[in-house]
Amino acid sequence: MSGYRCGICKKSVKFDVKNIGMQCAYCGSKVFYKERPTVAKRVHTR
Ligand SMILES: [Zn+2]
Repeated sequence: MSGYRCGICKKSVKFDVKNIGMQCAYCGSKVFYKERPTVAKRVHTR
């Protein structure tokens, strides 16, 4: 399962890997960003 975020409406959309025709179900956009897991990396520099 891969998560993507629409580049237009910024909604989280999920696509099936086999589904090649990617299109936003909300606004019909075809621009997507690969969604990153929001892991806050805190590096202690000291
Ligand atoms: Zn959209």
